[in-house]
Amino acid sequence: MSAEFQNREPELTKRTVNPGAEKWLGEVVPVLDHGFIYLVDYMGDDESIAQAARVSYGYGTKSVSQTEGLIRYLDRNRHTSPFEMSELKFHVKLPISVARQWVRHRTASLNEYSARYSILKDEFYIPGADSVNIQSANNKQGRGDGVGKDEAEFVRRVFEENGARSYADYQLLLNDDGTGNPVDPRRPQIARELARNVLPVDIYTQWYWKVDLHNLFHFLALRMDPHAQLEIRQYANVMATIVKDAFPMSYKAFEDYELFATALSRPEQNTLSKLLLDSGLTFTADQVDQASKVVGLTNKREREELMEKLTKLGIVKK
Ligand SMILES: Cc1cc2nc3c(=O)[nH]c(=O)nc-3n(C[C@H](O)[C@H](O)[C@H](O)COP(=O)(O)OP(=O)(O)OC[C@H]3O[C@@H](n4cnc5c(N)ncnc54)[C@H](O)[C@@H]3O)c2cc1C
Repeated sequence: MSAEFQNREPELTKRTVNPGAEKWLGEVVPVLDHGFIYLVDYMGDDESIAQAARVSYGYGTKSVSQTEGLIRYLDRNRHTSPFEMSELKFHVKLPISVARQWVRHRTASLNEYSARYSILKDEFYIPGADSVNIQSANNKQGRGDGVGKDEAEFVRRVFEENGARSYADYQLLLNDDGTGNPVDPRRPQIARELARNVLPVDIYTQWYWKVDLHNLFHFLALRMDPHAQLEIRQYANVMATIVKDAFPMSYKAFEDYELFATALSRPEQNTLSKLLLDSGLTFTADQVDQASKVVGLTNKREREELMEKLTKLGIVKK
């Protein structure tokens, strides 16, 4: 439990209390070797998202199934603004190399530890032996096979020595004994904002990161993907677990219509149509309807949408 949450008493509030999010408040989840992430604050729940949509549609029905149906309808149809009505705020400790990727997600707010103001800690990300891989042969932006145990230990040692060496240079330039006084009174104390530049990008930084649910889903879709770098994926996976508890209906819709959905380009659709038609594989509307019910597509509107798509591809016989 994070220190700021340890003596905190639950307060009376008129705001929406989200039990799935409350459970995660202040719960520090370790990530990588020195990193962590925890939920600092949140706003809203699934119902708040549906409620925001009801404002725009002007209807006020409220049963749980109607809320879930509405959320799924919104997500399926990319009606995204109601998902911006809920927010999550995280405290994250992460290597600067991961932060460089993370910060590309502009639709969030962040406030980072200042290495101009404070002295950075001697903490560097050293990949575990099972995360040391060779350059991928077919993906210029990725890792290939793992290396043997001895080679992995060698690589780890190179990282460790590089961290120790550069941190020693950092301390030499800072010339600070930890109380603000110089270690060597004959030498100047170089400005922190300058001295930090000798440090490598695997040193850890920290920030508060606040994002709404719509943009968090966008982040998760990109950063949980196997194409994203292993290190940032680990943070994304923890956030996904928290969101799943806090916004179960929205998360399920996100999985069904974004994370595990596949969009086909026009040439891809044409290829699929050709393959199916060349093989004589066409179906009746009844067959499609039955099959979709078997796999759990119980929503009538969704089945109609599927029928429309398959008809467009020319594989449903009238
Ligand atoms: C696997 C992977 C590899 C990547 N490789 C590289 C790389 O090699 N080099 C590199 O530089 N980046 C790289 N990126 C970062 C990527 O290009 C995006 O910057 C990052 O994923 C953030 O996505 P985003 O812009 O959609 O998100 P956000 O910044 O959160 O924006 C969300 C959405 O808001 C809109 N938006 C935000 N800002 C603007 C704007 N200024 N103008 C118009 N619309 C806007 C867009 O619709 C955008 O999709 C990579 C990302 C991934 C996941």
